[in-house]
Amino acid sequence: MSFTVPTNYASRPVAVIGAGTLGRRMALMFATGGGLVRIYDPSESQREAAVDYVEQNLAEVAGRRQNGKPGTVVAGGLTEAVQDAWLVIEAVPERLALKKQIFGDLDAIVAADAILATNSSSYASSNFLDHVRHPERVLNIHFYMPPTQNAVDVMSCGKTDRDVLDFVMATLPEFGVYPFEARKESTGFIFNRVWAAVKRECLEVVAEGVATPQDVDGMFCVNTGLKGGPFRMMDKVGLDVVLDIEEHYATEHPEHPEAPRVLLRDYISRGRLGVKSGAGFYDDYAKV
Ligand code: NAD
Repeated sequence: MSFTVPTNYASRPVAVIGAGTLGRRMALMFATGGGLVRIYDPSESQREAAVDYVEQNLAEVAGRRQNGKPGTVVAGGLTEAVQDAWLVIEAVPERLALKKQIFGDLDAIVAADAILATNSSSYASSNFLDHVRHPERVLNIHFYMPPTQNAVDVMSCGKTDRDVLDFVMATLPEFGVYPFEARKESTGFIFNRVWAAVKRECLEVVAEGVATPQDVDGMFCVNTGLKGGPFRMMDKVGLDVVLDIEEHYATEHPEHPEAPRVLLRDYISRGRLGVKSGAGFYDDYAKV
């Protein structure tokens, strides 16, 4: 089925559904285009925290960009948030039933030409179509950690109109992000898969007793010029979260080695979850 991409999008709002870690960061990036961003979250404290976050960072992040211009961010009810929005993107918790319900609800109330996107890290948007009448406007637009990590994965739900994908690829750079299209359905999209392989091999090297986490990070930093190595980064994410991600990949790829997950389970069983528990591969985190 063909779909007419949004017209006059520059004068229409973007709606962000879910105002947590990623929702507020996406709102920030869309606000650097100079337009209106509306945020919806059932939690009043999350709505307020998100608007505060954007207001505190917008001038600086918009100022960093060529052609960046601070726009406006407001929070309110769901119907009001999506009204006339050209793009509605959700960043609600990673629960399949919730995402399916939200896509059905949104499909019924958004503008006829609105694009519906998910920021989900682990679900392809093809999973959310049960109650959707217009899958041709549904796709994944997956952010990493804006405003510092600004690559974005774009991926069809399998039924997305090609014009929608092309329109999104052409339009996202206006908001200071860099879209890359996954050319077929892929758990982990593009960069997350590459990064998962790097982490897995680092864990394997340590699990085999070839090197310590500190050795691996040290060499990684010397050779890449980056500041933090994979083990330091895993500590920041949380080793329980890293393990969940690995388990997810392993269900699709049973050929993946078990040793990286055994090593992670060992640290987790000793209460070493990374920064959030005060220690992980490293010990030098103040307890929170
Ligand atoms: P989060 O828990 O920080 O935020 C989720 C927000 O959704 C909360 O504010 C919650 O109140 C709100 N919410 C709950 N039910 C809702 C509903 N029915 N309607 C609207 N909002 C609702 O989660 P997060 O880390 O921002 O993750 C959100 C999504 O982004 C997930 O799909 C996740 O996979 C994806 N993601 C997360 C990261 C990350 O590093 N945290 C990175 C990329 C993508």
